[in-house]
Amino acid sequence: MVNQIQKAAVIGSGVMGAAIAAHLAGAGISCLLLDIVPTVLTDEETKAGLTLEQPKVRNRLAAGAIERLKKTNPAPLYSEAFAARITPGNLEDDLARLAGVDWIIEVVVERLDVKKQLLARIEQVWKPGTIVSSNTSGISIQAMAEDCGPEFKRHFLGTHFFNPPRYMKLLEIIPGESTDPEILRFMADFCEKRLGKGVVTAKDTPNFIANRIGTYGLLVTLREMLEKGYTVEEVDAVTGPALGRPKSATFRTLDLVGLDTFVHVARNVYDLVDNEAEKTIFDVPAALTGMVEQGWIGEKKGQGFYKKV
Ligand code: NAD
Repeated sequence: MVNQIQKAAVIGSGVMGAAIAAHLAGAGISCLLLDIVPTVLTDEETKAGLTLEQPKVRNRLAAGAIERLKKTNPAPLYSEAFAARITPGNLEDDLARLAGVDWIIEVVVERLDVKKQLLARIEQVWKPGTIVSSNTSGISIQAMAEDCGPEFKRHFLGTHFFNPPRYMKLLEIIPGESTDPEILRFMADFCEKRLGKGVVTAKDTPNFIANRIGTYGLLVTLREMLEKGYTVEEVDAVTGPALGRPKSATFRTLDLVGLDTFVHVARNVYDLVDNEAEKTIFDVPAALTGMVEQGWIGEKKGQGFYKKV
């Protein structure tokens, strides 16, 4: 049964979607990588005389993600053979192609309304038997699929990869109330054996397990820094390499995750808990929302707590 997934589609080609597609391609699974159609031309596209109707522009987001992956992952980590297994496209032109894959993974922005709309579109072309999962950091799996039909819900679950997906072994699997236990077992087995993950099954509670704890830790650290006047460098010095965790210092991690995504993930809990103690913890400090408002959202835009030089 583990070899049943030969073709996948990843929807959303941002920080996580592109990297999940690369991980699948590395495991020998061919993968459609879809994103939305851009609504504005870049300066280069305008200079080159391109229009919004041209395939090069329509597929720019997904194709750009693959180019970035190639640049940041030189051979042999990311070989041409792996790259050839990823086909970029867009949701407008390529939606019907989802009927030809075995597994569809939703990896778009962390907003319930956007994810629900996307699932409704996927269901229009969904072929019974195809597994559909969400990479949400903590939005309810049940709520996301509440408007979908019973057969679709039976095939729907959370598969939460961690960043960066190639190196992070942990993967949370989250059943909704209607997820078929056989499908859950199959996916846990598949993710362990084919994708090399260490699977933990989590309940469908706000932010599941890892982000309920992780978001809490990051917010407490951030608030302490602001209140006590520590610097970003001081906090990272004591939460990163000195603890034997070279890549997981607090603010490096936030820049890698994306501050916009982190704010959404903190709000997953804030919006759903009703006790004051948790509300206080998951209330995002204005300093962080202010950074997001100015576009300082982390590595993906070249500026977060650190500036990419
Ligand atoms: P991102 O902002 O880097 O990328 C989101 C992508 O979704 C963008 O390319 C955007 O164009 C696309 N998109 C937006 N609306 C869309 C729509 N309606 N249809 C199709 N594509 C759409 O975000 P990300 O960090 O890759 O996060 C994606 C998901 O993965 C979120 O649910 C997030 O919580 C989860 N996640 C993120 C991390 C992380 O470290 N960043 C880790 C684990 C899980």
